Amino acid sequence: MISDDLFKEALKVLPGGVSSPVRKFEPHPFFAKKGEGCILYDVDGNRYIDYCLAYGPLILGHAPEKITSAVCEQIKKGSAYGTPTKAELELAKLVIERVPSAEMIRFVNSGTEATMAAIRLARAFTGKDKILKFEGAYHGAHDYVLVKPGSGAAAAPDSPGIPQDTTRNTISAPFNDEEAVASIIEEDDNIAAILVEPVMANIGCIEPEDGYLKFLRKITSENGILLIFDEVITGFRIAPGGAQEYYNITADLVTYGKIIGGGFPMGALAGPRRLMEHISPAGDVYQAGTFNGNPVSVTAGITTLKELTDDLYKELNKKGEIIRKGIKDILEDNNLEFYLAGLSSMFQIYFTQEKVKDYTSAKTANLEIFKKYFHSLLKGGVFVPPSQFECCFISAAHRKEDLNMTLEVVEESIKRAV
Ligand code: PLP
Repeated sequence: MISDDLFKEALKVLPGGVSSPVRKFEPHPFFAKKGEGCILYDVDGNRYIDYCLAYGPLILGHAPEKITSAVCEQIKKGSAYGTPTKAELELAKLVIERVPSAEMIRFVNSGTEATMAAIRLARAFTGKDKILKFEGAYHGAHDYVLVKPGSGAAAAPDSPGIPQDTTRNTISAPFNDEEAVASIIEEDDNIAAILVEPVMANIGCIEPEDGYLKFLRKITSENGILLIFDEVITGFRIAPGGAQEYYNITADLVTYGKIIGGGFPMGALAGPRRLMEHISPAGDVYQAGTFNGNPVSVTAGITTLKELTDDLYKELNKKGEIIRKGIKDILEDNNLEFYLAGLSSMFQIYFTQEKVKDYTSAKTANLEIFKKYFHSLLKGGVFVPPSQFECCFISAAHRKEDLNMTLEVVEESIKRAV
């Protein structure tokens, strides 16, 4: 069966034909058959150089041999135990080695669960109720964070089914705007935490301006507010110690997902002992999960983190530079003043002439051009996330020739789209 037929079948049994909204695009998404390195194959016989990479986790590419064999070995020994394992301990130590602010970690099953737990802990610790987040930031699919969200939720920002009593406790501010945050904090002494994606990767790829994270660190410390970095995307991607290391800022709590599970479902919440010891059963802030610390995901996480050496980060960053410079040259050669964003192994192009620094400026991008660009890339054998408000990722499996081939298709596609 080809994707077209499968999608028609899927529409009958899966809401919208997909299991997560961002996967849907017109006329229908392709159905994946297998992934190998940086290549994704579909059931229709096409191959794509993949920059979606399952929305971030696959930093080593699809089905890397080391992960596949470690996971197969683990599965033969069982897929869940309901007891602690040595492997959990090993992964905890690997994270703690890399992330100086982390003294303890709680493994959960997704980024959504991680931010949910972080918010509960921040509220319990501070005795305050409200959370300040940023417009266009996505922190998962739970009620407290679906206020002006990015990613797939941007299409349905006010999801029915969330009581106003819940979202009343979530305030949002424009990113990279010091005054907005300062005035909210001045007027409200009931804020438990600022929850921030240090790089806004759910409305493309927006970096914090110089000093912005430092400002957030200072204003939270001075006002008894916890600073939570949501590093579900940036964690283990932009540096071994994530955005905390990259920008040299220490957050109070950090949430992880994606890469930490090595391509398998996992999330985590990490922080100093003084905070983490409030989590049950050490403390009374309840957090639990049947699959928490799942041995299969933990095995994939351990194998991945061990592969992420300094040399590998250097290589990834170099590949990021090749792609960004290549796109910049294409834009310049064609006299196009579009905004190119990115760092490390992340990038996105915005079809706008504005400098993109927050949700408002990101939304000036021409989505019609993006749509044409996306479909032309797809036709040329390059798969990027189908939405302007997602980020493209590069993996260790992308080779120089893949990047060069990609740039040729990007040039064609930009010319066709504008
Ligand atoms: N936080 C950020 C920054 C994310 O990008 C995402 C997912 O894309 C989440 C949280 C939610 O993670 P998950 O989809 O694993 O629940």
